[in-house]
Amino acid sequence: MTAPYHAEAFFVMPGRCFRMVSGSAGEAGPTHCPDTPGWRGRFQARDGRWYTVDACDGHSGPLHDPRPIQPHPDPG
Ligand SMILES: [Zn+2]
Repeated sequence: MTAPYHAEAFFVMPGRCFRMVSGSAGEAGPTHCPDTPGWRGRFQARDGRWYTVDACDGHSGPLHDPRPIQPHPDPG
């Protein structure tokens, strides 16, 4: 069975997509999603707990209440 991401492995780190993805050819094991996150929302883990996470466009699907991240507010 092949999954586009590892459903039970994720991490909460502002500024990084929360998903773990399968390593590309030549890499072993899951690796942090390399995409720049554009969304922040709430994610319910399999244990029922809720986390506030950042996600890239491709991984923002399961987020509840996703909001666009404003990375660099224009100072002026
Ligand atoms: Zn991602």
